[in-house]
Amino acid sequence: MKFKKSQKLYNKGLVNLVGAVNSPVRAFASVGGNPLFIEKAKGSKIIDVDGNSYIDYVLSYGPMILGHRHKKVQKAVTKALKNGYSFGASTENEIKLAKIVCDAFPGMDKVRFVNSGTEAVLSGIRLARAYTGKDKIIKFSGCYHGHQDSLLVAAGSGLATLSLPGSKGVPEGAVKNTLIANYNDLESVKAHFEKHDDIAGVIIEPVGGNMGVVIPQNNFLKDLKELANKNGALLIADEVMTGFRSTFGGAQEVLGVEADITCLGKVIGGGFPVGAYGARNEIMENVAPLGGMYQAGTLSGNPIAMVGGIATLSTLKKQNPYKQFDAVGVEIEEAILSSAQKYGVDVTVNRFGSMMNPFFTNKKVTNFEEAQTSDTKKFAVFFWEMIKNGIFLPPSQFEAWFLSSALTEKNISKTKKALDNALKAVSEM
Ligand code: PMP
Repeated sequence: MKFKKSQKLYNKGLVNLVGAVNSPVRAFASVGGNPLFIEKAKGSKIIDVDGNSYIDYVLSYGPMILGHRHKKVQKAVTKALKNGYSFGASTENEIKLAKIVCDAFPGMDKVRFVNSGTEAVLSGIRLARAYTGKDKIIKFSGCYHGHQDSLLVAAGSGLATLSLPGSKGVPEGAVKNTLIANYNDLESVKAHFEKHDDIAGVIIEPVGGNMGVVIPQNNFLKDLKELANKNGALLIADEVMTGFRSTFGGAQEVLGVEADITCLGKVIGGGFPVGAYGARNEIMENVAPLGGMYQAGTLSGNPIAMVGGIATLSTLKKQNPYKQFDAVGVEIEEAILSSAQKYGVDVTVNRFGSMMNPFFTNKKVTNFEEAQTSDTKKFAVFFWEMIKNGIFLPPSQFEAWFLSSALTEKNISKTKKALDNALKAVSEM
Protein backbone atom coordinates (compact mmCIF):
# COMPACT_ATOMS: atom_id res chain seq x y z
CA MET A 1 0.00 0.00 0.00
CA LYS A 2 1.41 3.39 -1.01
CA PHE A 3 0.71 6.72 0.67
CA LYS A 4 2.92 8.86 -1.60
CA LYS A 5 0.32 11.44 -2.61
CA SER A 6 -1.07 11.72 0.93
CA GLN A 7 2.48 12.26 2.15
CA LYS A 8 3.06 14.98 -0.43
CA LEU A 9 -0.20 16.77 0.40
CA TYR A 10 0.57 16.49 4.09
CA ASN A 11 3.89 18.29 3.61
CA LYS A 12 2.20 20.93 1.45
CA GLY A 13 -0.63 21.31 3.96
CA LEU A 14 1.77 22.01 6.81
CA VAL A 15 2.58 25.41 5.30
CA ASN A 16 -0.80 27.11 5.63
CA LEU A 17 -2.81 24.74 7.80
CA VAL A 18 -2.15 23.85 11.42
CA GLY A 19 -0.72 20.32 11.34
CA ALA A 20 -2.24 20.06 7.83
CA VAL A 21 -5.66 19.38 9.39
CA ASN A 22 -8.74 21.31 10.42
CA SER A 23 -9.57 19.11 13.41
CA PRO A 24 -6.89 17.55 15.65
CA VAL A 25 -7.95 13.87 15.66
CA ARG A 26 -7.45 13.82 11.89
CA ALA A 27 -3.71 14.32 12.47
CA PHE A 28 -3.14 10.65 13.46
CA ALA A 29 -1.06 12.01 16.35
CA SER A 30 -1.57 9.07 18.68
CA VAL A 31 -1.09 6.31 16.11
CA GLY A 32 2.01 7.77 14.46
CA GLY A 33 2.44 8.19 10.73
CA ASN A 34 0.86 10.91 8.66
CA PRO A 35 -2.82 11.60 7.99
CA LEU A 36 -4.53 10.25 4.91
CA PHE A 37 -5.90 12.70 2.37
CA ILE A 38 -9.23 11.65 0.94
CA GLU A 39 -10.24 11.91 -2.69
CA LYS A 40 -13.82 10.67 -2.55
CA ALA A 41 -16.26 8.26 -0.98
CA LYS A 42 -19.27 6.22 -2.05
CA GLY A 43 -21.51 3.88 -0.09
CA SER A 44 -19.51 1.95 2.50
CA LYS A 45 -16.14 2.92 1.00
CA ILE A 46 -13.74 5.83 1.24
CA ILE A 47 -10.84 6.31 -1.17
CA ASP A 48 -7.64 8.23 -0.52
CA VAL A 49 -5.64 10.32 -2.99
CA ASP A 50 -3.31 7.36 -3.67
CA GLY A 51 -6.30 5.30 -4.81
CA ASN A 52 -6.36 3.08 -1.70
CA SER A 53 -9.91 2.02 -0.93
CA TYR A 54 -11.13 1.38 2.62
CA ILE A 55 -14.34 0.19 4.22
CA ASP A 56 -15.27 3.24 6.25
CA TYR A 57 -16.03 2.95 9.97
CA VAL A 58 -15.23 6.62 10.63
CA LEU A 59 -18.13 7.93 8.55
CA SER A 60 -17.08 11.53 9.13
CA TYR A 61 -17.19 10.73 12.88
CA GLY A 62 -20.81 9.68 12.67
CA PRO A 63 -22.94 11.68 10.25
CA MET A 64 -22.75 9.36 7.22
CA ILE A 65 -25.10 6.76 8.68
CA LEU A 66 -26.51 5.88 5.25
CA GLY A 67 -23.03 5.57 3.80
CA HIS A 68 -21.53 8.14 1.45
CA ARG A 69 -23.44 9.90 -1.32
CA HIS A 70 -26.71 8.10 -0.77
CA LYS A 71 -28.79 8.51 -3.93
CA LYS A 72 -31.73 10.24 -2.23
CA VAL A 73 -29.56 12.71 -0.34
CA GLN A 74 -27.42 13.54 -3.35
CA LYS A 75 -30.48 14.10 -5.53
CA ALA A 76 -32.27 16.32 -3.01
CA VAL A 77 -29.20 18.45 -2.35
CA THR A 78 -28.33 18.83 -6.04
CA LYS A 79 -31.87 20.01 -6.70
CA ALA A 80 -31.82 22.45 -3.77
CA LEU A 81 -28.57 24.04 -4.96
CA LYS A 82 -30.42 25.41 -7.97
CA ASN A 83 -32.59 27.61 -5.73
CA GLY A 84 -29.76 29.31 -3.82
CA TYR A 85 -27.42 28.53 -0.97
CA SER A 86 -28.32 30.90 1.84
CA PHE A 87 -31.03 33.51 2.29
CA GLY A 88 -30.85 34.88 5.84
CA ALA A 89 -34.59 34.30 6.00
CA SER A 90 -36.86 31.40 6.82
CA THR A 91 -37.61 28.49 4.49
CA GLU A 92 -40.26 25.77 4.62
CA ASN A 93 -37.62 23.05 4.93
CA GLU A 94 -36.59 24.38 8.36
CA ILE A 95 -40.15 23.66 9.53
CA LYS A 96 -40.04 20.21 7.94
CA LEU A 97 -36.76 19.21 9.57
CA ALA A 98 -37.94 20.66 12.90
CA LYS A 99 -41.04 18.47 12.76
CA ILE A 100 -39.02 15.31 12.00
CA VAL A 101 -36.70 16.07 14.94
CA CYS A 102 -39.45 17.03 17.42
CA ASP A 103 -41.53 13.96 16.48
CA ALA A 104 -38.52 11.72 17.19
CA PHE A 105 -37.80 13.19 20.65
CA PRO A 106 -40.86 13.33 22.94
CA GLY A 107 -39.12 15.84 25.22
CA MET A 108 -38.79 18.36 22.39
CA ASP A 109 -41.67 20.66 21.48
CA LYS A 110 -39.40 23.17 19.79
CA VAL A 111 -35.95 23.07 18.31
CA ARG A 112 -33.40 25.68 17.17
CA PHE A 113 -30.96 24.80 14.38
CA VAL A 114 -27.31 25.82 14.56
CA ASN A 115 -24.24 24.81 12.52
CA SER A 116 -22.36 22.30 14.68
CA GLY A 117 -22.53 20.10 17.73
CA THR A 118 -20.36 22.59 19.61
CA GLU A 119 -22.89 25.36 19.02
CA ALA A 120 -25.78 23.08 19.95
CA VAL A 121 -24.21 22.30 23.32
CA LEU A 122 -23.03 25.80 24.17
CA SER A 123 -26.55 27.05 23.45
CA GLY A 124 -28.12 24.21 25.43
CA ILE A 125 -25.95 25.12 28.42
CA ARG A 126 -26.87 28.80 28.12
CA LEU A 127 -30.53 27.79 27.98
CA ALA A 128 -30.26 25.68 31.15
CA ARG A 129 -28.73 28.69 32.91
CA ALA A 130 -31.33 31.07 31.51
CA TYR A 131 -34.21 28.81 32.56
CA THR A 132 -32.99 28.00 36.07
CA GLY A 133 -31.26 31.29 36.85
CA LYS A 134 -28.30 29.25 38.16
CA ASP A 135 -24.71 29.10 36.97
CA LYS A 136 -23.00 25.78 37.66
CA ILE A 137 -22.89 22.81 35.30
CA ILE A 138 -21.87 19.25 36.12
CA LYS A 139 -20.06 17.36 33.35
CA PHE A 140 -18.55 13.89 33.32
CA SER A 141 -14.90 13.10 32.98
CA GLY A 142 -14.21 11.67 29.50
CA CYS A 143 -17.30 13.19 27.90
CA TYR A 144 -16.68 15.64 25.08
CA HIS A 145 -19.22 18.32 24.30
CA GLY A 146 -17.47 20.34 21.61
CA HIS A 147 -14.81 22.99 22.07
CA GLN A 148 -16.62 25.71 24.04
CA ASP A 149 -14.49 27.10 26.89
CA SER A 150 -16.56 26.02 29.87
CA LEU A 151 -16.62 22.32 28.96
CA LEU A 152 -13.02 21.86 27.82
CA VAL A 153 -12.01 20.21 31.08
CA ALA A 154 -11.57 16.48 31.71
CA ALA A 155 -12.80 16.09 28.13
CA GLY A 156 -12.62 13.11 25.81
CA SER A 157 -12.12 12.93 22.04
CA GLY A 158 -9.03 14.78 20.77
CA LEU A 159 -8.02 15.90 24.25
CA ALA A 160 -7.97 12.28 25.45
CA THR A 161 -6.12 11.29 22.29
CA LEU A 162 -3.46 13.92 22.90
CA SER A 163 -3.48 13.31 26.70
CA LEU A 164 -4.45 16.92 27.41
CA PRO A 165 -6.20 17.65 30.73
CA GLY A 166 -7.77 20.77 29.26
CA SER A 167 -7.05 23.50 26.75
CA LYS A 168 -4.65 26.43 26.94
CA GLY A 169 -6.39 29.71 26.30
CA VAL A 170 -9.36 28.88 28.51
CA PRO A 171 -9.44 31.45 31.33
CA GLU A 172 -9.93 30.17 34.87
CA GLY A 173 -13.15 32.15 35.10
CA ALA A 174 -14.61 30.22 32.18
CA VAL A 175 -14.40 26.90 34.02
CA LYS A 176 -15.10 28.07 37.55
CA ASN A 177 -18.72 27.02 37.18
CA THR A 178 -17.87 23.58 35.76
CA LEU A 179 -18.00 20.64 38.17
CA ILE A 180 -16.60 17.24 37.18
CA ALA A 181 -18.23 13.92 38.06
CA ASN A 182 -17.38 10.31 37.15
CA TYR A 183 -19.42 8.47 34.55
CA ASN A 184 -21.61 5.74 36.06
CA ASP A 185 -20.97 7.12 39.56
CA LEU A 186 -24.10 8.73 40.96
CA GLU A 187 -22.40 9.39 44.28
CA SER A 188 -19.92 11.73 42.60
CA VAL A 189 -22.89 13.75 41.30
CA LYS A 190 -24.67 13.71 44.64
CA ALA A 191 -21.56 15.11 46.32
CA HIS A 192 -21.74 18.19 44.06
CA PHE A 193 -25.43 18.74 44.77
CA GLU A 194 -24.76 18.46 48.50
CA LYS A 195 -22.09 21.14 48.27
CA HIS A 196 -23.67 23.57 45.77
CA ASP A 197 -27.17 24.99 45.48
CA ASP A 198 -26.60 26.87 42.23
CA ILE A 199 -26.36 24.00 39.75
CA ALA A 200 -28.26 24.74 36.54
CA GLY A 201 -27.78 21.43 34.80
CA VAL A 202 -26.03 18.12 34.39
CA ILE A 203 -24.73 17.46 30.89
CA ILE A 204 -23.99 13.94 29.73
CA GLU A 205 -23.42 11.87 26.62
CA PRO A 206 -26.21 9.35 27.33
CA VAL A 207 -23.86 6.79 25.83
CA GLY A 208 -20.26 7.89 26.06
CA GLY A 209 -18.59 7.97 22.65
CA ASN A 210 -15.60 10.24 23.14
CA MET A 211 -13.56 8.13 25.58
CA GLY A 212 -14.24 5.18 23.34
CA VAL A 213 -17.72 3.77 23.86
CA VAL A 214 -18.87 3.70 27.48
CA ILE A 215 -22.35 2.49 28.34
CA PRO A 216 -24.44 3.73 31.28
CA GLN A 217 -24.84 0.89 33.76
CA ASN A 218 -28.07 -0.16 35.44
CA ASN A 219 -30.36 2.85 35.93
CA PHE A 220 -27.63 5.47 35.88
CA LEU A 221 -29.37 7.87 33.49
CA LYS A 222 -32.81 7.55 35.08
CA ASP A 223 -31.30 8.10 38.53
CA LEU A 224 -29.32 11.05 37.20
CA LYS A 225 -32.43 12.71 35.80
CA GLU A 226 -34.27 12.21 39.08
CA LEU A 227 -31.37 13.54 41.11
CA ALA A 228 -30.92 16.61 38.89
CA ASN A 229 -34.62 17.52 38.85
CA LYS A 230 -34.98 16.95 42.59
CA ASN A 231 -32.27 19.59 43.03
CA GLY A 232 -33.83 22.06 40.60
CA ALA A 233 -31.33 21.32 37.83
CA LEU A 234 -31.97 20.19 34.25
CA LEU A 235 -30.68 17.04 32.58
CA ILE A 236 -29.01 18.00 29.31
CA ALA A 237 -28.54 15.04 26.96
CA ASP A 238 -25.75 15.61 24.49
CA GLU A 239 -27.02 13.35 21.72
CA VAL A 240 -24.78 14.92 19.07
CA MET A 241 -23.34 11.45 18.47
CA THR A 242 -26.20 9.17 19.55
CA GLY A 243 -29.16 11.11 18.13
CA PHE A 244 -30.74 9.16 15.25
CA ARG A 245 -27.87 6.68 15.59
CA SER A 246 -28.77 4.60 18.67
CA THR A 247 -32.25 4.49 17.25
CA PHE A 248 -34.45 7.11 15.59
CA GLY A 249 -35.23 8.71 18.97
CA GLY A 250 -31.61 8.51 20.11
CA ALA A 251 -30.15 6.94 23.24
CA GLN A 252 -32.93 8.45 25.35
CA GLU A 253 -35.47 6.23 23.62
CA VAL A 254 -33.36 3.09 24.04
CA LEU A 255 -32.63 3.86 27.69
CA GLY A 256 -36.14 5.09 28.55
CA VAL A 257 -35.10 8.53 29.78
CA GLU A 258 -36.43 11.93 28.74
CA ALA A 259 -33.90 14.73 29.09
CA ASP A 260 -34.95 18.31 29.78
CA ILE A 261 -32.74 19.70 26.99
CA THR A 262 -31.42 17.66 24.07
CA CYS A 263 -28.48 18.64 21.86
CA LEU A 264 -28.07 17.15 18.39
CA GLY A 265 -25.63 17.26 15.47
CA LYS A 266 -23.88 14.85 13.10
CA VAL A 267 -26.63 12.57 11.66
CA ILE A 268 -29.27 15.33 11.55
CA GLY A 269 -27.27 17.04 8.81
CA GLY A 270 -26.30 13.84 6.99
CA GLY A 271 -22.82 15.27 6.32
CA PHE A 272 -23.82 18.94 6.07
CA PRO A 273 -23.16 21.33 8.97
CA VAL A 274 -26.22 21.15 11.23
CA GLY A 275 -26.59 21.11 14.99
CA ALA A 276 -29.72 21.62 17.06
CA TYR A 277 -30.94 22.03 20.60
CA GLY A 278 -34.47 21.51 21.76
CA ALA A 279 -36.71 21.11 24.78
CA ARG A 280 -40.31 21.41 25.87
CA ASN A 281 -42.11 24.71 25.18
CA GLU A 282 -41.75 26.07 28.69
CA ILE A 283 -37.93 25.90 28.36
CA MET A 284 -37.55 26.86 24.69
CA GLU A 285 -39.70 29.97 25.17
CA ASN A 286 -36.69 31.50 26.91
CA VAL A 287 -34.84 31.70 23.59
CA ALA A 288 -34.91 34.93 21.52
CA PRO A 289 -37.13 36.15 19.91
CA LEU A 290 -39.61 34.59 22.39
CA GLY A 291 -37.42 35.14 25.44
CA GLY A 292 -34.35 36.86 26.76
CA MET A 293 -31.69 34.21 26.00
CA TYR A 294 -29.86 35.35 22.91
CA GLN A 295 -28.51 32.93 20.32
CA ALA A 296 -28.23 33.49 16.58
CA GLY A 297 -26.44 32.44 13.38
CA THR A 298 -25.86 33.84 9.88
CA LEU A 299 -25.97 30.39 8.30
CA SER A 300 -28.28 28.69 10.82
CA GLY A 301 -30.99 26.62 9.16
CA ASN A 302 -28.98 26.79 5.94
CA PRO A 303 -31.24 25.69 3.07
CA ILE A 304 -28.81 23.11 1.64
CA ALA A 305 -28.02 21.65 5.06
CA MET A 306 -31.76 21.42 5.87
CA VAL A 307 -32.40 19.47 2.67
CA GLY A 308 -29.44 17.17 3.46
CA GLY A 309 -30.92 16.58 6.91
CA ILE A 310 -34.47 15.95 5.70
CA ALA A 311 -33.31 13.51 3.00
CA THR A 312 -31.05 11.68 5.46
CA LEU A 313 -33.61 11.40 8.26
CA SER A 314 -36.54 10.46 6.04
CA THR A 315 -34.45 7.76 4.30
CA LEU A 316 -33.26 6.54 7.69
CA LYS A 317 -36.81 6.33 8.97
CA LYS A 318 -37.85 4.28 5.95
CA GLN A 319 -34.81 1.99 6.07
CA ASN A 320 -35.05 1.50 9.84
CA PRO A 321 -31.58 -0.14 9.89
CA TYR A 322 -31.28 -0.34 13.68
CA LYS A 323 -31.96 -4.08 14.04
CA GLN A 324 -29.55 -4.73 11.21
CA PHE A 325 -26.95 -2.51 12.94
CA ASP A 326 -27.29 -4.61 16.04
CA ALA A 327 -26.82 -7.84 14.11
CA VAL A 328 -23.74 -6.52 12.28
CA GLY A 329 -22.43 -5.09 15.53
CA VAL A 330 -22.70 -8.45 17.26
CA GLU A 331 -20.92 -10.11 14.36
CA ILE A 332 -17.99 -7.69 14.47
CA GLU A 333 -17.84 -7.75 18.25
CA GLU A 334 -17.71 -11.57 18.26
CA ALA A 335 -15.05 -11.57 15.57
CA ILE A 336 -12.85 -9.27 17.67
CA LEU A 337 -13.31 -11.35 20.80
CA SER A 338 -12.67 -14.70 19.11
CA SER A 339 -9.50 -13.50 17.31
CA ALA A 340 -8.31 -11.81 20.51
CA GLN A 341 -8.76 -15.06 22.39
CA LYS A 342 -7.04 -17.04 19.60
CA TYR A 343 -3.94 -14.83 19.81
CA GLY A 344 -4.04 -14.22 23.55
CA VAL A 345 -4.63 -10.45 23.35
CA ASP A 346 -6.50 -8.76 26.21
CA VAL A 347 -9.48 -6.96 24.75
CA THR A 348 -12.72 -5.51 26.09
CA VAL A 349 -15.33 -4.57 23.51
CA ASN A 350 -17.97 -1.95 24.31
CA ARG A 351 -20.86 -1.62 21.90
CA PHE A 352 -24.16 0.23 21.83
CA GLY A 353 -26.00 -0.55 18.60
CA SER A 354 -23.94 0.87 15.74
CA MET A 355 -21.29 2.49 17.98
CA MET A 356 -18.48 0.31 19.22
CA ASN A 357 -14.78 -0.13 19.83
CA PRO A 358 -12.30 -2.48 21.48
CA PHE A 359 -10.09 -1.42 24.38
CA PHE A 360 -6.75 -3.22 24.81
CA THR A 361 -7.26 -4.03 28.46
CA ASN A 362 -8.51 -6.92 30.57
CA LYS A 363 -10.64 -4.50 32.62
CA LYS A 364 -14.31 -3.74 32.23
CA VAL A 365 -14.60 -0.17 30.87
CA THR A 366 -17.37 1.86 32.49
CA ASN A 367 -15.69 5.24 32.90
CA PHE A 368 -12.80 7.38 31.64
CA GLU A 369 -10.29 6.04 34.15
CA GLU A 370 -10.96 2.48 33.05
CA ALA A 371 -10.85 3.49 29.37
CA GLN A 372 -7.39 4.89 29.99
CA THR A 373 -6.13 1.46 31.07
CA SER A 374 -6.16 0.55 27.37
CA ASP A 375 -2.73 0.01 25.85
CA THR A 376 -2.63 2.73 23.17
CA LYS A 377 0.60 1.34 21.69
CA LYS A 378 -1.30 -1.82 20.88
CA PHE A 379 -4.10 0.27 19.40
CA ALA A 380 -1.59 2.01 17.10
CA VAL A 381 -0.30 -1.32 15.73
CA PHE A 382 -3.87 -2.56 15.37
CA PHE A 383 -4.91 0.63 13.56
CA TRP A 384 -2.18 0.50 10.91
CA GLU A 385 -2.72 -3.21 10.29
CA MET A 386 -6.41 -2.46 9.70
CA ILE A 387 -5.44 0.31 7.25
CA LYS A 388 -3.19 -2.15 5.40
CA ASN A 389 -6.14 -4.52 5.23
CA GLY A 390 -8.39 -1.83 3.74
CA ILE A 391 -10.33 -0.78 6.84
CA PHE A 392 -10.57 2.88 7.89
CA LEU A 393 -11.02 3.32 11.65
CA PRO A 394 -10.79 6.47 13.76
CA PRO A 395 -7.05 7.02 14.41
CA SER A 396 -7.53 7.05 18.17
CA GLN A 397 -8.30 4.62 20.97
CA PHE A 398 -10.75 7.16 22.36
CA GLU A 399 -13.15 7.46 19.42
CA ALA A 400 -16.11 5.26 18.54
CA TRP A 401 -16.35 3.20 15.36
CA PHE A 402 -19.60 3.65 13.47
CA LEU A 403 -21.61 1.36 11.22
CA SER A 404 -23.42 2.57 8.10
CA SER A 405 -26.44 0.99 6.46
CA ALA A 406 -24.37 0.75 3.27
CA LEU A 407 -22.22 -2.09 4.67
CA THR A 408 -22.50 -5.31 2.66
CA GLU A 409 -21.92 -8.90 3.73
CA LYS A 410 -18.74 -8.88 1.68
CA ASN A 411 -17.57 -5.77 3.57
CA ILE A 412 -18.24 -7.49 6.87
CA SER A 413 -16.37 -10.66 6.02
CA LYS A 414 -13.42 -8.56 4.78
CA THR A 415 -13.55 -6.66 8.07
CA LYS A 416 -13.46 -9.89 10.06
CA LYS A 417 -10.38 -11.12 8.18
CA ALA A 418 -8.72 -7.76 8.75
CA LEU A 419 -9.53 -7.91 12.46
CA ASP A 420 -7.95 -11.34 12.68
CA ASN A 421 -4.76 -10.11 10.95
CA ALA A 422 -4.62 -6.98 13.09
CA LEU A 423 -5.03 -8.84 16.39
CA LYS A 424 -2.36 -11.31 15.28
CA ALA A 425 -0.05 -8.36 14.62
CA VAL A 426 -0.79 -7.02 18.11
CA SER A 427 0.07 -10.41 19.64
CA GLU A 428 3.42 -10.35 17.83
CA MET A 429 4.49 -6.90 19.12
N1 PMP B 1 -20.91 16.50 21.53
C1 PMP B 1 -20.57 15.24 21.24
C2 PMP B 1 -21.12 14.13 22.06
C3 PMP B 1 -19.71 14.99 20.17
O1 PMP B 1 -19.37 13.72 19.89
C4 PMP B 1 -19.20 16.06 19.41
C5 PMP B 1 -18.26 15.85 18.25
N2 PMP B 1 -17.57 14.68 18.20
C6 PMP B 1 -19.60 17.36 19.75
C7 PMP B 1 -20.45 17.55 20.82
C8 PMP B 1 -19.12 18.54 18.98
O2 PMP B 1 -19.69 18.55 17.72
P1 PMP B 1 -18.98 19.35 16.52
O3 PMP B 1 -17.68 18.68 16.29
O4 PMP B 1 -19.96 19.21 15.39
O5 PMP B 1 -18.83 20.76 16.96
